[in-house]
Amino acid sequence: MIETFPTVQSMADSTVDKVLKTWEGAGYYSRARRLHALSQLVMLPSADGGFDGSLPSSYTALLSLPGIGPYTAAAVASIAFGQPFACVDGNIKRVMARQEAMMEPSTKEVQFWADEYLVQDRPGDWNQALMELGATVCRPQKTQCDRCPVQSSCKGKATPTAYPKAMKTKVKEVSLWTCVEFDRLGHPILSQRKQDGLFGGLWGPQLHEGQAPNPTGEQIFVGKVKYKLSHRSMTVHVFMSAKMTSEVGHNPSLVAMSVLDQKVIDLIKASEHVIPLLGQEG
Ligand code: SF4
Repeated sequence: MIETFPTVQSMADSTVDKVLKTWEGAGYYSRARRLHALSQLVMLPSADGGFDGSLPSSYTALLSLPGIGPYTAAAVASIAFGQPFACVDGNIKRVMARQEAMMEPSTKEVQFWADEYLVQDRPGDWNQALMELGATVCRPQKTQCDRCPVQSSCKGKATPTAYPKAMKTKVKEVSLWTCVEFDRLGHPILSQRKQDGLFGGLWGPQLHEGQAPNPTGEQIFVGKVKYKLSHRSMTVHVFMSAKMTSEVGHNPSLVAMSVLDQKVIDLIKASEHVIPLLGQEG
C-alpha cells in the first residue's frame, strides 16, 4: 500500500477500484474504501470542508474522518503527534483485565484505566508499549508472566488466562451457490458488488443465498468452496455454465476480488470441465 500510495495525494488521485485492488486479499475491505474517502477529504481545501492536504493533528478532527474511530484517533494523535490520548484495543483490554483481575471490564472502565496510567510526556511510546506487552507477553494463552515488567502490580497473575472472560463468537453457517459463465476468451462474467454489502466494491460472480439447485444440462457442478469470516462460515456450491456467453467477461487479474471469489474461479480453472472453454487467455 505504501509503495503504491506513498502520499495522501497519490491515494486521493487514485480510483477506489485501484485502492481495493492493492488491498486485495487483506480482508476488511471497508477499511480500504474509507481510507480512500479519507485521503480525498484531507486533500480538499478547508473552504470546502477539507484539511488542505495535511492530516489533522487534533483527536477530535481525526475522529471526524472516514474510518477513524476512538482507537485510531488516539493512536494517530499520540504516536504521530505526541498528544496525550490513551489507546484501547483488545491487547490493552486484556492487560487491564489481568492487572485488575476483572472478568468483564466495560470499554468505559478500560478507557478510564488507560487514561489514568497514560505517561503524559511520552504517550505514543506508552501506548505502543502497552499494546506490545499484550501482543507478546500478556498473550491470550501461554502468558509469560515471569518476564512481565509490570507483574508486581498484577492482581490476576495467579490465573491470568481467567481474565477477561472469553467471549463466545456466534458463527453463522451460510450456504451459497453460483453458476459462473465464461466468455470466448475464457474470462468469467463478474459484477461489482454494492459498496455497502459483503465484499463491497469488489468483483465476483453472482452469489445466491440458499441451497444449490439440481444441475440442469447447462450447469456443471464443479465443487464446493469453504470460506470463513469472523461471524460467518460460508460454503459455496460452484457450478459453471456449459455454454459460452456472448457477454464480455473480466480478466480476474485486472479487477479487485475477494479471496473467496478468487477461490471459486481457481476451482473452476483447475477442474477438467473448463479445458474446452479456456482455449486462450486474453
Ligand atoms: S503479570 Fe502476567 S497477567 Fe499480569 S500483566 Fe503481566 S503478563 Fe499479564
